[in-house]
Amino acid sequence: MVFWLCAPLVGVSFVVRDGLVLPEASENKDFMASFGAFLQGGESLPVYDHIARVYRKEMQLPVPAPAAELKLPDMADGIADGIALQIGKSSVLTDSETLNKAYSKAHQEGFEISMRNTAQSAEQSPAALDERSGIVSRSRFFAELLNESDGGILPRMSGRGLELLFWTKRAGAGSEIVGCSVRMDALRGRIADVLPAVLSEARILTVLDDMGEPLVAPPSVAAPEWRRPFVAREISPLLPRWEVGVWLANPAALTSRVRFATLAVWVLVAALFFVIVVGSAAVLWILGSEMRVAAQKTTFVANVSHELKTPLTSIRLFAELLLSGKQGNEEKRREYLHTMMSEVDRLARLIDNVLAASKREKENYPMQPLSLSELARDTAEQLKPHLEKSGFAIVLECDESSGALDVWGNREALRQVIMNLLSNAEKYSNRIREIRLSCGDEGKMAVLEVADRGIGVEPRFTDRIFREFFRADDSLSASKSGAGLGLAIARKIAHRHGGDVTYAPRPGGGSLFSLRLPLFTNPKEEGEEDENERSQ
Ligand code: ADP
Repeated sequence: MVFWLCAPLVGVSFVVRDGLVLPEASENKDFMASFGAFLQGGESLPVYDHIARVYRKEMQLPVPAPAAELKLPDMADGIADGIALQIGKSSVLTDSETLNKAYSKAHQEGFEISMRNTAQSAEQSPAALDERSGIVSRSRFFAELLNESDGGILPRMSGRGLELLFWTKRAGAGSEIVGCSVRMDALRGRIADVLPAVLSEARILTVLDDMGEPLVAPPSVAAPEWRRPFVAREISPLLPRWEVGVWLANPAALTSRVRFATLAVWVLVAALFFVIVVGSAAVLWILGSEMRVAAQKTTFVANVSHELKTPLTSIRLFAELLLSGKQGNEEKRREYLHTMMSEVDRLARLIDNVLAASKREKENYPMQPLSLSELARDTAEQLKPHLEKSGFAIVLECDESSGALDVWGNREALRQVIMNLLSNAEKYSNRIREIRLSCGDEGKMAVLEVADRGIGVEPRFTDRIFREFFRADDSLSASKSGAGLGLAIARKIAHRHGGDVTYAPRPGGGSLFSLRLPLFTNPKEEGEEDENERSQ
């Protein structure tokens, strides 16, 4: 009954009575050549088991559930289930030291350890297929097996490949043993049936037999190197050297994908590195410039205090002299008063500059049309007595011949610009004390120039002198004191009038500062001019 339940798997059925194979099977030569001597007690056969099961205790693996009674109908399904399980499951994790110990113990106890059919990670072990099999075997006589169990399945490797023998004690029949050989072609078919799709986009999945040949091979793809799978696992002690494995369907595509991914990662790393370097440089640069500004501001405070104190000291000195009445000379007394006045002017200029520097960019001035020539003349006249007294020759070239130079502007702000330029010309003077103030126009711009024969500006500073707090020589002990605001404010005011202040070295030595402002044309006059042109 057992046999016809699993009829397609049954090869040659046999009965062993009193240590003899009964005639029906004993007439089959192949069967007898493979199993005859074993069944009649004259020969031993290797019995296979997994090393992890033999040395479960030594390898500290969990104790398995007691094996269920094995029946032939279960076998093919059992193997098939085993394969399905192996596909999804990871192997028992044992460290290599414990495994080596188990192998050497197996060797000592007479187990045979065979080599596997495949070598994983071809690139790492390119030459030899030297991986030990997890399935070990030991020769046993049939009588020994009969003492230990009521039945079983025995694989036998012969010149014809793998053969399987199923045997079981017949219940209530004395010493009678029945069984059969298994038809390997039927078993192969059953196993092939349970395999999932052999070929998918990325991988080939199949089972290799004991000869290392695939049970099912994908039809449309070039066969991979079967003995070098991507990953493979032995199936079961019932099928020694059989393995289920996975191969890459298109290793070249995968390699190029890996290369591309590696390249992308490197590009990203390089970009990140670049960003970090540039970012750090930017942070350092910003920090540096912030620190420079902070240092300049500190110097500025010191300079302003010094600038405030100096005129106050001299005003106080002359006021005391006058109050004491010791100076009887009227001429001298007038001179003292003039000096006090010019010190007051200096103070006022400084305060104006500090106030202008603190004004917000968008603050509005009251603007009106005014003549730049006239303003220049006026301011120069105001400073002239003081400058002449200090030994300066003032050349004023802002008369009717240079034109009125009407501009749209704020008188006090523009006066401050001219004052700053003139007082710089005085401050940074040299042996030749000459200041020339000239007016003119360039196209639609009014131009006012302040030229001196002073120390000039070093070429590396020509841009920076217009920055707030910048001084070409900012040490307190320097002979020329200042707060580094005059030119920054002059340029700021010029910008707000739609013009600019620029520096150029004066031919023959000294500096030439130019204030350029857009010429103002009355919209009415413009209209009249247009009409005149049209009527002509
Ligand atoms: P301060 O005169 O208070 O230092 P400024 O903003 O007016 O501030 O000038 C900035 C710098 O430009 C000065 O420290 C000086 O080095 C340079 N500078 C300005 N005007 C002249 C000039 N006429 N001749 C030479 N150097 C000048």
